[in-house]
This record gives sequence, structure tokens and C-alpha cells, in this order.
Amino acid sequence: PAARVQGLGTSVFTEMTELARRTGAVNLGQGVPELPSPPGLLKDVSAAVLAGSNQYPPAVGFPALREAVAAHQARRYGLEYDPQGEVLVTTGATEALASALLALCDPGDEVLAFDPCYDAYPAGARFAGAKVVGVPLAEHGDTFVLDADALRSAVTPRTRVLLLNSPHNPTGKVFTAEELGVIAALCREHGLTVVTDEVYEHLVYDGAQHATIAALEGMRERTLTISSAGKTFNVTGWKVGWVCGPAELVRAVGAAKQFLTYASGTPYQEALARMLDGVEEWAAELRRTLQHHRDLLSRGLASAGLRPYRAEAGYFLQADIRAWGYSDGVRFCRELPTRAGVVAIPTAAFNLRPDAPSYLVRFSFCKREDSVISAVEKLVNAA
Ligand code: PMP
Ligand code: GLN
Repeated sequence: PAARVQGLGTSVFTEMTELARRTGAVNLGQGVPELPSPPGLLKDVSAAVLAGSNQYPPAVGFPALREAVAAHQARRYGLEYDPQGEVLVTTGATEALASALLALCDPGDEVLAFDPCYDAYPAGARFAGAKVVGVPLAEHGDTFVLDADALRSAVTPRTRVLLLNSPHNPTGKVFTAEELGVIAALCREHGLTVVTDEVYEHLVYDGAQHATIAALEGMRERTLTISSAGKTFNVTGWKVGWVCGPAELVRAVGAAKQFLTYASGTPYQEALARMLDGVEEWAAELRRTLQHHRDLLSRGLASAGLRPYRAEAGYFLQADIRAWGYSDGVRFCRELPTRAGVVAIPTAAFNLRPDAPSYLVRFSFCKREDSVISAVEKLVNAA
């Protein structure tokens, strides 16, 4: 095999999902929701299939979905994008990320990403011949904060792109307005393009608000904003994502994307176009459910002696495994299904730097309430 795929092996999500299947353990690993999708959305997608919406959509995406995405960005963030040329529909956020990195990076370029980070980032950079440079998030009590000095010192003359992910996987962190301001200033100063992955934009808890970096001064022109329907509507298998940005950057992403998949999922795109207009009402209900599951899991982990960190958003929370006598999250996660009947994901799978902490483990709470309750009981019994 070519050098670019060597060492990539099988993703940790595949490995842990297989382990859950084999052992029958409660699966709090991969971020696959067990929660229902909007009934109207499911009806609409079936109707679109039966009505014959089954051939290629335009490569840039189904027109009504591009319009709905543009309307969403304007309504929520006050950002105007032209659905003709500034919005591109992709095969999930994953393809948007890979296409953006292919479009923006030349071999030898460097991409900054906060460490830990989603595992598709280093892989995407590698396909582009670029290198991801990890900027550690600093532990601060039960949460994580930007280390502005570490960020500044990571910039080199080869830095081209800053990859941001807020709300963040795996920490559940939401970058504050102040942190976004520091990041934006640095990107303006060094002429960096920002690729911001906001797939959890609607899943922010405790009444907090997600802010988008493209809305800061001087940032719209240098930012590609990525999101996806998967998490917002519990349809991760549909793989419909999108990217918004200035026309020149979006055109470059589209140039790569058209030769990866060309286009995908016409009936899904058609149904989502209608659903996105009503996202606020739907997401308010989903947030209530997820926040409740987060609280159950967080309290349960604490009772089991696995100190939880605070998840402000998203699907995941992390815990410190050292009180159980482990320092290696990978070993902990391999033994957890037999020791406790639960599957989790080692944060190490998201680490960029070899000296990043190895004692953190990620649990997902986008599961049915009875799954979360049963996992908690098992963890407490095994403690
Ligand atoms: N970005 C982050 C931060 C994620 O957690 C995920 C996982 N689902 C993705 C991107 C991928 O999104 P999609 O399924 O839309 O490709
Ligand atoms: N985003 C999901 C997670 O972090 C998994 C997506 C995948 O399996 N690639 O668990």
C-alpha cells in the first residue's frame, strides 16, 4: 500500500463497535445516536424516494438544501452566503473536511489543530501531503481551555490552515467568544485560513450559546464553516454535510469534492432542505434529552470513581480512569467490556502529540436512557 495509508489501520470506532457486538457490552463508544429522528423528516425522505428523486443531484448539492443552509446561517449567525457559489453540499462533514484540506494544502504545509482532535483531521491532512501540528488544550478544573501561548508558538512559515472544532469532540468543550477572538486575531495576523467543524452546533447545554468564528470581524473571508445533518437530526447514516464560505474557497473545495463522490443522497438532501427550516424547535427538544443523559452519565461516572469532566455540548464526556488503577486508556477500554460490560473510546485515539495525557476515556451519551442507566449500573458494580 501507498505511504499515505500506512499506519492508518482500522479506525478505533470500528474496533470498539466490533468489541461491543462480540461481548454484548453496552456501547457508549462510537457517537451513534440511539435516539429518534424527526418523524416528518423520515416521511419526507420516503416520499422523495417514491416520487423518483433518485438520480444525481447537482454536484454542488440539491438547490433547496443550499438555500436552506444559507437561510440557517443568516438566521442563526447573521452571516449571508449566496446559495449559488458559497454553499456546497458534501457527503457528510467528513468529505467536507477531506475536500477542504485537499483544496487548501500543498505537500509540506502545516495545519494547526487543537489536541485532542477528531481522528479524520490528521488523516485528511496526510492525504493532502500536509502535517497536522497539535496545539494542546489546557486542562482547567473539570474543563479544557485555549492555551494562547501554545497556539502562538505553533505557527511557522509553513502554516496554512487552522482547523477548529467547536463544540469539540472528544472534550465537549465550547470555545468561548474570547477564545475565538484570540484564534481569529492570530489567523488574520498570519494569513491563515480557518476550517471550522461545527457538527454539534445545535447541541449546546445549560442554556449556553454556540458562537461561530466566521462571524468575527475580518473572518468571513478566510473561513470555511462545516456542518452536517447527522448529529442534529439523529441521521448519522445519511451522510449529508455542507460547507459555507467565500466563493473562491468554496469553489476550490468543490473542485476536490466532485472527484471524490461527485454528489450523493438526493432524497436525503431534498427532505433535509425542508427540515432545516424548522431545526430550532426540533433541536430544543433534543438538547433537553441529551442534557438529561449527560447528567445521568456524569453522576454515574462520579459514583463509579471515574472523575468526569464537564461536557458543555455534543455527544461525549471524558473521564479520568486513574482511580481504577489504570494509566493507559487503551488498555482500560480493551478490558472494560469484560470487567464491566461497557464499551468506551480511549481519548488517546484523538491525541496528536505523543506526550498528550493517556488516562482519559470518552463515553458517549447520545444513547437511549435505559442504555445510559444500564451502563452506569454496570460501572458502579465493577468499581
Ligand atoms: N466532525 C466531528 C467533530 C465529528 O464528531 C464527526 C463524527 N460524526 C464528524 C465530523 C463526521 O460527521 P459526518 O458523519 O457528517 O461525516
Ligand atoms: N463522530 C463519531 C465519534 O466520534 C464517529 C464517526 C465515525 O465512526 N467515523 O464517535
